[in-house]
Amino acid sequence: MGDYRKMWSDLNMDLEKHDVLCAVLPELYGSVYLNQENRPEGMNYFNFVVSEVHGLRIEELANTKTEGNKVVGTFCVFVPDEIILAAKATSVGLCGGSQFWIEDGEKVLPRNLCPLVKAIVGAKLSATCPYFQSCDMLVGETTCDGKKKAWEILGEHVPIHVMDLPQMKRERDYESWREEIKLFINKVEELTGNKITVESLKESIALANQKRRALKRLYDLRKNIPSPISGLDSLLISQIAFYDDPERFIAKVNELCDELDERVKTQNPDERKRILITGTPMAIPNWKMHSIIEELNAQVVVEETCTGTRYFENEVSSNGDTLEDLIKNLADRYLKINCACFTPNDGRAQDIIKYAGEYKVDGVIYYNLSFCHTYSVEYKKVEDELKKNDIPVLFIETDYSSEDSGQMKTRVEAFLEMI
Ligand code: SF4
Ligand code: SF4
Repeated sequence: MGDYRKMWSDLNMDLEKHDVLCAVLPELYGSVYLNQENRPEGMNYFNFVVSEVHGLRIEELANTKTEGNKVVGTFCVFVPDEIILAAKATSVGLCGGSQFWIEDGEKVLPRNLCPLVKAIVGAKLSATCPYFQSCDMLVGETTCDGKKKAWEILGEHVPIHVMDLPQMKRERDYESWREEIKLFINKVEELTGNKITVESLKESIALANQKRRALKRLYDLRKNIPSPISGLDSLLISQIAFYDDPERFIAKVNELCDELDERVKTQNPDERKRILITGTPMAIPNWKMHSIIEELNAQVVVEETCTGTRYFENEVSSNGDTLEDLIKNLADRYLKINCACFTPNDGRAQDIIKYAGEYKVDGVIYYNLSFCHTYSVEYKKVEDELKKNDIPVLFIETDYSSEDSGQMKTRVEAFLEMI
């Protein structure tokens, strides 16, 4: 990574503490990623993105800010990127995935809270995440209780707009979500000084759909036996999707898929067990579950998570001639996401069963971040549905620390032997 100290200092970062974080990541990345065998050439771009995660991309954000554009940080796949893009702002996904931020998060939050929320707050309060530091506005949502209350703390440090996400899917909830999207449009227009028009929104819808299509293409390739790409590499690509330049990202994913198309023509089937992961999001650099599974010579072939299918499934229609039409299309697409914060949320178990068939999986691992109650309570229903369909499932609850890695490995090993 080049010398970015001046840039980080301009972002009011805690440089000393940030040095510690910068020292941890390359080692972790090297041991988890660079030791994999037979990686596609197309992963070189994504290696590069990781190596420059606090460097070049942040410089790009700084440059766009110098040109008068805004940077908006989001935390949930319900926040419509299309609105941010239509106002010529840049959207960055900020879900904290590192154990590094937990300690600072716990200074103001209870310990018995989801690590994702603690890391989000810790990243901001410790001033060690240059993405957070680059944001002109954050967008929260009323999904789980931990996040909802965390916005009040973050709001003391940076402007935050909170979208009130309904938690049921009745017609009145669709209506209220459309209203929320309108309020969000007003807020983004106010922030950027740019009016969102039918044309600009149609353009951003097309761009976001292209991104979804590129990810879907990658995931479809994973349906091959074996998948021509590791679960770890696919997870990394999904994580990078949240903050990379969308056009460049789409081009690079499609280039990689061209290479994988060739790969599947010459490869032979193998006996590795195929695993579907379902559950809570895995924000970068949370690679713990995948690395345990793939070290045991099984393959993660699909993730029914927000760093997986929930991010790219279903496109937004661009039919219509008015902003009202497009807002309705956005609301319709986003409310199709089956997150456990909804009640009821029967669509999720159906999605898992559908993917288990499409990706020819041998078993499901239900990945639950500790203290995420919506997902842990929903486990029983999902387990019952999977059992009815003879799909084996293992529940793993964990956080970002490595303390339980040995125990997780033993449980996954036993599960792989059993299926
Ligand atoms: S799990 Fe739910 S609340 Fe969390 S990012 Fe996904 S959709 Fe949003
Ligand atoms: S994983 Fe669960 S508890 Fe954590 S932020 Fe997401 S919905 Fe909230």
